[in-house]
Amino acid sequence: MNKQNTKLSRENAIHEGKAKIIYKTTNPSLLIQYFKDDASAFNGKKKGQIEKKGECNNDISSNIFSRMESDGFKTHFVEKLSAREMLVKKVEIIPVEIVVRNIVAGSLAKRMGVEPGMPLSIPVVEHYYKDDDLGDPMINRFHMIAFNLATDDEIDYIEVEALKINEWMVNFFDRIGIILVDYKLEFGRSPDGILLADEISPDGCRFWDKATKEVLDKDRFRRDMGKLTQTYEEMRHRVLGG
Ligand code: ADP
Ligand code: UDP
Repeated sequence: MNKQNTKLSRENAIHEGKAKIIYKTTNPSLLIQYFKDDASAFNGKKKGQIEKKGECNNDISSNIFSRMESDGFKTHFVEKLSAREMLVKKVEIIPVEIVVRNIVAGSLAKRMGVEPGMPLSIPVVEHYYKDDDLGDPMINRFHMIAFNLATDDEIDYIEVEALKINEWMVNFFDRIGIILVDYKLEFGRSPDGILLADEISPDGCRFWDKATKEVLDKDRFRRDMGKLTQTYEEMRHRVLGG
């Protein structure tokens, strides 16, 4: 990829979200994701800043996407451009958040009335309608088709792919001493087919240390557990060294 083909300009921001800014580039099929230090939780009700989060998440996500690409997964990742910028292929995001769970935690513990920490006998894939105003409600395959969010074939592909990604992710994180509890994926349509998009970082995953069960993700921010920058740096250190 020729870096000269891309141009970063703040005037070219096409979306500012809770954790990232998306910039157009001079190449219409490429975008830049700029990773901010802003942190939010509980559907934006809790807001803050985590020093260095942006650069850690860019490093972690770029590293994971490039390993996945080498292992044959189709992602939007092109290259890491700078500390906080990732060059990606532009996709049309399918407005459904795919959550994959290996261990009970968060909203599943509440919904099923069980304590967090129970391993699931099979990975559980859930769908949430990506709409902040509605609080990302949980939906199923029927809603996705009835409301034209995705086709039957697209849902088939995404579910199979999410389970393959899960196998890869569980293995990778296990090797670096992390239990992968659950996480959120986003997929998008592109001329190259459906690609894994957005980011894979402690913002959208639950990571527990294998030995100590210490929480190493954004739950530390959600639950005011402290050591925020330290946690993101620890995950960066483990992922990059893995
Ligand atoms: P949000 O918008 O949910 O607050 P972010 O701050 O992470 O989230 O903003 C990033 C936005 O960019 C998300 O809406 C995400 O769906 C979108 N996105 C991620 N990857 C791509 C891509 N390759 N092409 C187009 N949009 C993308
Ligand atoms: N998640 C996310 N974005 C969302 C909702 C969930 O990244 O809008 C991730 C979250 O970090 C966790 C997993 O998806 O790793 C499952 O989240 P859960 O449904 O338990 O909701 P939470 O309790 O985190 O709100």
